[in-house]
Amino acid sequence: MIDVISLDKQFVAGTYNRFPVSVQYGKGSFLYDQSGKEYIDMGSGIGVTAFGISDDEWVKAVTDQLTKVQHTSNLYYTSPCVLLAKTLCERTGLKKVFFSNSGAEANECAIKTARKYAQDRRGKDCYKIITLKNSFHGRTITTLSATGQDCFHNTFTPLTDGFLYATANDLESVKSLVDDTVAGVMIEVVQGEGGVIALDNDFVVGVYELCKEKDLVFICDEVQTGNGRTGKLYGYMHYGVTPDIVTTAKGLGGGLPIGACMMGEKTQSVLGFGDHGSTYGGNPVCSAGALSVINRLDQKFLDGVEQKSKYVFDRLKKMKGVVSVSGKGLMIGFKTEKPAKEVVLSCIDGGVLCLTAKDKVRLLPALNIPLNVLEKALDVIEWACKP
Ligand SMILES: *Cc1c(COP(=O)(O)O)cnc(C)c1O
Repeated sequence: MIDVISLDKQFVAGTYNRFPVSVQYGKGSFLYDQSGKEYIDMGSGIGVTAFGISDDEWVKAVTDQLTKVQHTSNLYYTSPCVLLAKTLCERTGLKKVFFSNSGAEANECAIKTARKYAQDRRGKDCYKIITLKNSFHGRTITTLSATGQDCFHNTFTPLTDGFLYATANDLESVKSLVDDTVAGVMIEVVQGEGGVIALDNDFVVGVYELCKEKDLVFICDEVQTGNGRTGKLYGYMHYGVTPDIVTTAKGLGGGLPIGACMMGEKTQSVLGFGDHGSTYGGNPVCSAGALSVINRLDQKFLDGVEQKSKYVFDRLKKMKGVVSVSGKGLMIGFKTEKPAKEVVLSCIDGGVLCLTAKDKVRLLPALNIPLNVLEKALDVIEWACKP
């Protein structure tokens, strides 16, 4: 048996403070480590494995495509990519899709599109994007700059110019930043890394209306909230607004790297030949996986996500040692009397893998996790939270 943990420490760049679990294989919502110990997966690879590990239907979609053609470059057409784009547009009402490989790259595309939209109409000085304090938009230099948390900025300056930070749920703070140099506003309707905090309805609607009035590009970063995670296909659908751009990634591919920047009525024609590109973007294998994920997220399935969400919220709210619960759908954060990290480590002992977000424990289980597995996981979480 190879010593995965010490080889990782020796040869893999030290950017991740990993938990002491070496995953060997899994099925559905169960993972197994090198010693054969079983874990219930309440993190799904940070909201990526939407239908769990090695789901039969997803594996078939991916392997069928894998045995046909695995990659072509974007010099040619492929059917999984266009079918996925068509499906996303039909399900959202958005008009065009650019495919990337990650969430950060989907946001890069959104930022480029917003800048070009504004500069084409209002000149070179109109390029700034308002984002929110406590947001998270990615790790590239530009998306770091978009991220409204100083702790991510410190040692990577100079960052990309042109981001302004407003306060979440304070519409006046957004309005006060808008001037002739502002091209758009980018928000996460539920701040994920920032602590699983759903934005207020009035605030999201207010930002949407402000963008409409001032002809700003309204961008929803749905990298984490998208693809059924919050109980609707996309999180913005809880708020009755129509974004000009929606970005997504994480759960979209169900475990393969794909992101999407979806453009609406206003922004659909902004990017032209040569304006943007990606070697892997819309890769046929990733697209086939994503298509199978999206096709399964029908209303009946999403109702099931909401039901499971209610079960988790109800149980957490009653738990000893749990101080508060937040989030939407199966994107859930809770504050505990004990430090979150301590709770997560106890859960690992008890055979449950959870995440953290800031000072909270975060749960992002597979959307198809069976209720009895969810019950078992919450029993362990209850034990771990007990003061
Ligand atoms: C994870 C995340 C990103 C970054 O996605 P990557 O695929 O890691 O580049 C961007 N925005 C939000 C809201 C995220 O949760």
